[in-house]
This record gives sequence, C-alpha cells and structure tokens, in this order.
Amino acid sequence: MNDRQKLVLITTTLAMVCALLLAAVVVVRIMDANGTLDALIVSHAVAPSRTAATSTPTMPTATETRPDLTRTSTAAPTASKTPEPTATQTFTPTATPNADGQEAVVIGYSVQDRPIEVYRFGSGPVHRLIYAGIHGGYEYNTVDLAYQLIDYLRLNLELIPEDITLFIVPVLNVDGFVNGRGQYNGRANARGVDLNRNWDLNWVADWDKSGCWNYVPIHGGTAPFSEPETLALSQFMVEEQIEAVISYHSAALGIFHGGQPDPHPPSVSLAEAVAAVSPYSYPGLSYGCSATGMSAHWATAQDIAAVDIELTNHSDTDFEINLRILNAFLTWKR
Ligand SMILES: [Zn+2]
Repeated sequence: MNDRQKLVLITTTLAMVCALLLAAVVVVRIMDANGTLDALIVSHAVAPSRTAATSTPTMPTATETRPDLTRTSTAAPTASKTPEPTATQTFTPTATPNADGQEAVVIGYSVQDRPIEVYRFGSGPVHRLIYAGIHGGYEYNTVDLAYQLIDYLRLNLELIPEDITLFIVPVLNVDGFVNGRGQYNGRANARGVDLNRNWDLNWVADWDKSGCWNYVPIHGGTAPFSEPETLALSQFMVEEQIEAVISYHSAALGIFHGGQPDPHPPSVSLAEAVAAVSPYSYPGLSYGCSATGMSAHWATAQDIAAVDIELTNHSDTDFEINLRILNAFLTWKR
C-alpha cells in the first residue's frame, strides 16, 4: 500500500465514521421529537435485568417473607400471580408444618394481585385471629405493630397456650398499604373501596359522610364482599372456624366490641378483657357515623367474638400496650 492508497483509506474511514455519527444524532433527535427516546433508553436499560429476572423465581409465594413485600412502601410486590391463584385461596395448615410464624400462607390476592398473607402460631383447637391494615397505608402503624408481634412471637412461642392457634394477617389492604403509606388515599383498596364497609352485614354502597371519615372519596363496593380482600379474609375466618378476632385501627378512638344492632356478649367480654390491660378508651368514642358493612359486626353474626382496637395515633405501634393485649387475647376464656 503506497502513501496515496493509505490516504484514501484513512479518508474513507473517517468519512464513514462521521456519517455513522451523523446518522445516530439524526435518529436520536427524531426519537426525542416523537417522545420515544426515553422509552427506548429505559427499555434497553432494563432489558438485561428483565431477562435475568425470568430465570429466577420472583413471585411472592406462600413462603414469601414480609420485608420484600410490605415493609417499604416503594417495594411494590411483583404483580404476577401464581398460575392457579384459586388453588391458594384456601388455607391449608399442612402447607406449613412445624413452621410457627416462619412462613406466611397466601389466603388470597388483592385487586392489584398482591398476596394477602397469614402467619400461624401454635396448633391448638381454639382458633383466634388478629388482622391489621384493613385501612391500608392510612393506618400503616397497625401493620407495623402486627409485624412487631409476629417477630416477638417467633422468639417467644411459649406465649401461645396449648389450646390456641393464633393467626395474624399483618396487612389486609395490601394495595392501600403499598400505594399510600401515611396518606389518606392509602385507606381504601385499589378500587376506592373502604374494606371495613364491604362486609355482608348492614351493607350499603354509599352512606352519609357527615360525622364519617371523608378526606377522600370512598365507597362500600358494588356488593357485599365485592372485593377480593374481604372475600379472602371472610372465607378464611369461616374455613378456619375462627372464634375470636382483634382488628387493629388507628387512631385514638378506643376499643369497640362487635355486635349490631345488639351487643354480642362474647365480644363485650373480650373487649373488657383487653380494656383491662390497656389505657385505650372503652367503650370507644362515638363519632356519629353510621356503621355499615363492618367486619367486626359481620364476625359477630358468625358468633365470632370481635373487637376493634384503635392505636393512640397514626404513627406509634404502642408495642408494650399491645403485648399486654396480646396476652389478654391469648388467655381470654370465652
Ligand atoms: Zn381504620
């Protein structure tokens, strides 16, 4: 190759490189103008991890542990369902042999396909249930409390009496919890339904909001148990023959026993037992709102002793108080 040939080769190469660069700039500008550049960059950036993700199991399953699922509001659980979600709608104790509190079992899925989990402690014939987060992220401290109790019980299994099986559902409104921690719009589920107004007892779709919680629009659903969250929990309570429940709320209104229109004596007895070891107001404070479609009242209609407990505020878990309440709940004799 002589000098002239070398010059031609170098010139040609430089020209081709310039042409390619120019073409790239033009393409990018066109895509930017079309609003597709960001999408292109994003899809390219996430493509490798998507590929990687498909090779590892990412779906929360019955053995999903809670830190990934619910502890951080930004850690939205992946929304994909297991292939046959109906197969996991029914709680099967045999799925968690000898795993007190260690493994959650999925009892259903939220509107946005997040798993609703239950933890079990003990194996006695008397089945009791604590559920929190029925009002999602708006009452997130109830969820925090539930996980504190779960953590505590894992280390103190001897607290569970021989005759008791205790179930804990740490967060029923899992979509509201993930979507709106500490926010008004975290109260309802993903369809704007207040999950404590959707139960099949004195249910209405809408109600006079005077005296009621009304920071954002909420409603009772299209029918009793129209929501997958309430359907899953109610079915679980029936199938597991739950005989007493505590539902946690916040804030500040005190302790309420279930029973509508008349008080349900076992619920009154349970409310008195937990009130005796706590500073919470009992009876609870009246706020003049009609109580429709509420879980505690539905529970009493199934002869389940039911108590709602409101934490002191919207952030603290009142752990020491509720450890005493837990003990009272576990040792209460119906
Ligand atoms: Zn509440």
